[in-house]
Amino acid sequence: MNKVEFPKELIQCPNLIGGEWTQGQGDKIEVFSPYNGMVVGQTNAATSEEVRVAIDKAHQASKTWKATPLKERTQVMFRFRDILHRDIEKISNMVSLESGKTLGESKAGIMKGIEVLEFALSLQNLDGGGKMEVSRGVHCEYRREALGVVASITPFNFPAMVPMWTIPIAITLGNAYVWKPSEKTPLTATLIGQALIEAGLPAGVMTILNGQVETTNNIIDNDHVMAVGFVGSSKVAKIVYQRATSHGKRALCLGGAKNHIVLLPDADPAMAGTGIADSFTGCAGQRCMAASVLLAVGDVEAQISKIKERAQETTIGTKMGAIITKEQVEFLNKAIDEAVAEGATLLLDGRKDQAPQGLEGGYWLGPTILDGVKPGTQAAITELFGPVISIIRCKNMTEALEIENSNQYGNAASVFTNNGAMAELVCQNASAGMVGVNIGVPVPREPFSFGGINESKFGYGDITGENSLNFWSDVKKVTTKWQMQNDHNWMS
Ligand code: NAD
Repeated sequence: MNKVEFPKELIQCPNLIGGEWTQGQGDKIEVFSPYNGMVVGQTNAATSEEVRVAIDKAHQASKTWKATPLKERTQVMFRFRDILHRDIEKISNMVSLESGKTLGESKAGIMKGIEVLEFALSLQNLDGGGKMEVSRGVHCEYRREALGVVASITPFNFPAMVPMWTIPIAITLGNAYVWKPSEKTPLTATLIGQALIEAGLPAGVMTILNGQVETTNNIIDNDHVMAVGFVGSSKVAKIVYQRATSHGKRALCLGGAKNHIVLLPDADPAMAGTGIADSFTGCAGQRCMAASVLLAVGDVEAQISKIKERAQETTIGTKMGAIITKEQVEFLNKAIDEAVAEGATLLLDGRKDQAPQGLEGGYWLGPTILDGVKPGTQAAITELFGPVISIIRCKNMTEALEIENSNQYGNAASVFTNNGAMAELVCQNASAGMVGVNIGVPVPREPFSFGGINESKFGYGDITGENSLNFWSDVKKVTTKWQMQNDHNWMS
């Protein structure tokens, strides 16, 4: 399958409550395909009563699931993995249909989700706890315990991958999971929910509630919800973090990004050209790891011409997908105009690219390169979230690092160079949670945790990988004594 297949009928997208698929009773939400601008599905927001009932059922289910041994819980997730592999074409098509990604990108996102799932599957062998005789006849041990009901609010840009960062880990650890997908891309959630049910997940352990702000708030405010994971824009990440923590709940909220790449004259032009162009055009720039600012240090014309060459080859509709909404295309077009008005020149203007044949109603913008962007202007500091890169010319590494450090976000940064000392300088001094050397999209692979710093993350710890275990569970310390000892100490 090379092309996204469109459904013959509207796809209905119910909520999953207590193991039953039920149509929400709240406001109707239409789902548009960025590929052709047509309505392809619809859902209804869960009302406050539906949220309450759903979370009550999740709470009940969490008690049995928590008491199920880890090794038994893991068996369900092994079957879930098999089903994801079996259905990967179908799920990829749904992801592309509603988010505008190419089929290859959608599939890669699901594979990354499966990688997280494999990490979760390994917990049964890795997370054995610890026990020690701390004084005569007295033993201390660690026991990892599920929290109960946990919630996850996810963004539009990775309808399968971002939820799959947390579903496998949170559920394998014994929690009941309440998921509020993006209202722009809720359709994929149904397929993931169906796969979990087919795998044998007990009713109520996965709950899916559709909707927007009100649904999110009702979930966060519910007393049974013990932890809130959020991925989305920084503005909303902060709101959700503050709301959840004001109720005394743990929250980890990943936000937006403005990722900088430092390009040095000794960088391999072919490697830099491919790595940087693919970073800002991949997923049409709609990913929190996309290159957004290129800090061009000294004479890097050879590398920039390779970036341009590669970007020109990245044709929309085949090698690059669509933009999520019409409004976002309009925002990007305006941002490009503003950058030019503020002194930038257009090395490549993606607005001139023709929409793919038959998909003229879709939301398209080709790769766009702005050169000579001034620090502090909109194109230099705002997360545009499209296939646009802003080149800022820098005298030296010091200036480049100053610009990188002054940005409010802190998701990713990269350097392209052949000089190890210069690369290390960026690794040490970049104000970002994930740093790459000659890598355009420095996403850590499992078991390394994903996450930024500064305004790209609100909360402590990480949402995936080893560092996520203490977020999605509690560690109980149990101290035991079974025999009366003659010697007493301060504990006995
Ligand atoms: P968004 O913040 O608009 O929405 C995210 C989720 O929050 C959605 O489910 C939405 O329904 C809900 N929501 C929106 N407004 C809300 C409010 N006021 N109160 C409560 N809930 C609300 O984000 P988006 O546009 O869907 O996704 C794109 C953003 O996500 C970008 O900024 C991108 O950088 C970021 N993102 C970050 C990461 C990361 O790991 N840091 C990963 C993917 C995407």
